Amino acid sequence: MKIPIINSKRQYETIAQKAEAAVLDVMRSGSYILGVNNKEFEKEICKFLDVKHAVTLNSGTDALHLALRALDIGEGDEVISTAFTFVATSESIGIVGAKPVFVDIDPDTFNIDAAKIEAAITPKTKAIIPVHLYGQPCDMDTIIDIAKRHNLFVIEDACQAIGAEYKGKKVGTIGDIGCFSFYPTKNLGTMGDGGLLTTNSQYIKDRVVALRNHGGAIRYHHDEIGVNSRLDEIQAAILRVKLPYIDSWNKARREHAAYYNELFSKCDLIETPKELDNTYCVYHQYTVKIPNRDEVHQMLSDKGIGAMIYYPIPLHLQKVHAKYNFKEGMLPITEKNTKLVLSLPMFAEITKEEQKEVARTLIECVKEANSTVAV
Ligand SMILES: *Cc1c(COP(=O)(O)O)cnc(C)c1O
Repeated sequence: MKIPIINSKRQYETIAQKAEAAVLDVMRSGSYILGVNNKEFEKEICKFLDVKHAVTLNSGTDALHLALRALDIGEGDEVISTAFTFVATSESIGIVGAKPVFVDIDPDTFNIDAAKIEAAITPKTKAIIPVHLYGQPCDMDTIIDIAKRHNLFVIEDACQAIGAEYKGKKVGTIGDIGCFSFYPTKNLGTMGDGGLLTTNSQYIKDRVVALRNHGGAIRYHHDEIGVNSRLDEIQAAILRVKLPYIDSWNKARREHAAYYNELFSKCDLIETPKELDNTYCVYHQYTVKIPNRDEVHQMLSDKGIGAMIYYPIPLHLQKVHAKYNFKEGMLPITEKNTKLVLSLPMFAEITKEEQKEVARTLIECVKEANSTVAV
């Protein structure tokens, strides 16, 4: 049995009629960019997240980039974040000319270790970007407390965590700005690129509305250098069809995670994900830690089980940041976990049979790959 890490087609089939009707409506309407579907989606997602303002954008990367722009962060500034994430997080810091300062992670959650943030603050620090990786909320109380004491902004990278909660609040609404992605494989994915920035600040909202459309709130009046990051009506219409399902899809992911945990409970070589108290994790990924990971990954792939390494090279060791001379060994926990993690098939529509097959195969491969290792 071939089991992919995600099966987007299966989800499409559950909403096909509604999505196709919505897209057809857009095509027939003659309004293709930033029209009524964008406006309505912004309202609907504000309600879902319980936040005052939402601005649709072209991607999650643009949300991060324009968040920094709206806060006037740039050349000479430093932004604290994690190296255990997708490159877009630190790339956005680079795009505005600021320097990324990486803090090591908590090995249980893979998220930035809030206890280590304060030591990384300098007079140049302007903001912290916590990433709710794999759908798991960061330790936001500690992060907000540090930010308040040091007068820093908090930009949440919630691209993998739409619907996740920290102490009853949706992530992406706790800091100054939240950034979301609607890339097709995200928990709420559209059928192309898409993104969103959320904030409770009218000032930030107005800045981003202008920045996304060439730096002017009024057409053909340009106050600053902006970008073109407008969202298509087709994408917004699809998102409006999908949004009502996100809670049930996230709930299904949580049930699948619990079932994997149960299936792996008798195999000591597989470390299953942990959840913090008072959080609602939405399992964008279900990520285990295993010894001899690369060998196991290859064996799984030979057997048709789709597993992925998110992410194989931590950001401080990527060529893109070479000019900062970050050294190997600088973030020992990040580097160690990069070598252990493996994300397994996870999507709302996966069946129990498929999960059993993934678990059976993984346990078999892990045992075989580690048969010579003393346990
Ligand atoms: C997907 C993702 C992004 C970027 O989103 P795009 O819509 O692909 O630009 C940023 N940060 C994280 C953590 C992501 O997973």
